[in-house]
Amino acid sequence: MAATDAVLELDGLSVGYDRAAPVVRDLSLTVGSGEVVALLGANGAGKTTTLRAISGLLKPAGGVVRLNGADLAGVAPTARARLGIAHVPHDRGIFFGLTVAEHFRLDGLGAPAEMETAFDHFPALRPLASRRVGLLSGGEQQMLAISRALSRRPKLLMLDEMSLGLAPVIVGRLLPVVREYATSSGTGVLLVEQHVHLALKIADRGYILSHGELAATGTAQDLGKDSALLAASYLGGAAR
Ligand code: ATP
Repeated sequence: MAATDAVLELDGLSVGYDRAAPVVRDLSLTVGSGEVVALLGANGAGKTTTLRAISGLLKPAGGVVRLNGADLAGVAPTARARLGIAHVPHDRGIFFGLTVAEHFRLDGLGAPAEMETAFDHFPALRPLASRRVGLLSGGEQQMLAISRALSRRPKLLMLDEMSLGLAPVIVGRLLPVVREYATSSGTGVLLVEQHVHLALKIADRGYILSHGELAATGTAQDLGKDSALLAASYLGGAAR
């Protein structure tokens, strides 16, 4: 993909915690407009760390993060959100004591029309608007987290293990909504997902991280066929 088509570009990204050696090293990756890209790898491979560097929560030790061609060095997380980066972390970023509607008001998106638009993506949420989030099922909580992110009309949507604690059948219903949203809106999606085969079903391309380094990349179709590579990546041993 030509660099100009990329919503997100990572160029030689190295990032870690405090003064320790970087846990992600020399990672280059792109996400195009309307593309769904899966970021895969074993526990501890560096997937969440990569997303934190993109949203500005961690400062890279090296390399460049670009959004629509603009270098994000020195741009604070809140400013990155305003520029169009939406990050749904694995704890979903929701508050159990607030209702669904109150979450939209928190975001300044309390107008009924905007909330209705968000619910269009997940109609099951509409009758739950006044329910406290702690009383929703895990799948409903995830629908809320994703619909809040979508209602900001992001340029880049990052979903970190949206399937955590959910049955595969629920994940299998949520992922196609994400796919359809990317295609219809032009939003680029970077998807960290444990249900690798479900993720590759809706993704265009994938990257496999192993011990903080890129082990393989390819179309979702090609990666999906390489079961030996996928199995090795989940045991932490993928290397090509
Ligand atoms: P998982 O699938 O288990 O979430 P991951 O691929 O997302 O794994 P990361 O969470 O990015 O992996 O972790 C990469 C490495 O960074 C691990 O060795 C982890 O222990 C370390 N790490 C993660 N968070 C911190 C932190 N806050 N402080 C120090 N080290 C951390």
